[in-house]
Amino acid sequence: MDGSVINRNETGQSKSMSETSLDLLVFAPHPDDAELAMGGVMAKAIARGKRVGVADLTRGELGTKGDAEQRRREAEEATRVLGLHVRENLGLGDGAVRDSDENRRVVVETIRRHKARYLFVCPPFDRHPDHQGAAQLVKSAFFLARLPKYKTESPAFSPARLFYYFIHDAREAAFAVDVSEFIETKRAAMAAYRSQFVNPKLPPDYQHIGVSDYLTQVEAFNRAMGMQIGAAFAEGFAADRPLSLDLPTDCLS
Ligand SMILES: [Zn+2]
Repeated sequence: MDGSVINRNETGQSKSMSETSLDLLVFAPHPDDAELAMGGVMAKAIARGKRVGVADLTRGELGTKGDAEQRRREAEEATRVLGLHVRENLGLGDGAVRDSDENRRVVVETIRRHKARYLFVCPPFDRHPDHQGAAQLVKSAFFLARLPKYKTESPAFSPARLFYYFIHDAREAAFAVDVSEFIETKRAAMAAYRSQFVNPKLPPDYQHIGVSDYLTQVEAFNRAMGMQIGAAFAEGFAADRPLSLDLPTDCLS
């Protein structure tokens, strides 16, 4: 088995692989990226009995707003709001997220240790250099995690798929998930990042489009994605190879 087959129970519902593995593992360059991009999907997956984790790659210590300690506390609060099963910070160094051998080993070990089946990361076309680095780093680790001769502490494991989430810029979405029922949970998880969005303290000459109502803009972004699939709110994702459907009629819309 190549790991791409979803484990199904007798009713045909997809089911978690085990008590300790993760169904979804979201890699975020900075604390808050995971919630902004796919807080709705994470809340929905948890409500459906999936095990969900977030691995923040950095502590966001270079951020203009807030400091690493504030952001750690905010991430903790967002983790409680969402009910995440796992949240880790890999401490790669803000501004230094690169697809290096050293970083690959850290990310591969994280995938293996959690037996994480569906991986998510930001897309390579994001503007922030850490996001570009993260996309390539996780893509490399996704491949290497399955190779038995690539040694880390935990044994080799084959994740099923890697998907790219959208934060500011959506291009060629492979699929979109209706998160209308979970938009309140997403809103609360995003609002946990007070230093970033709710009460940001900015230098006088700081330029950032829409920072004053950033959370409203994220919701508008989810509304626009929802419009494409006939939902009030949706989160979209890109993939680097096609999704497999038994028949085209398996699509919800
Ligand atoms: Zn970021």
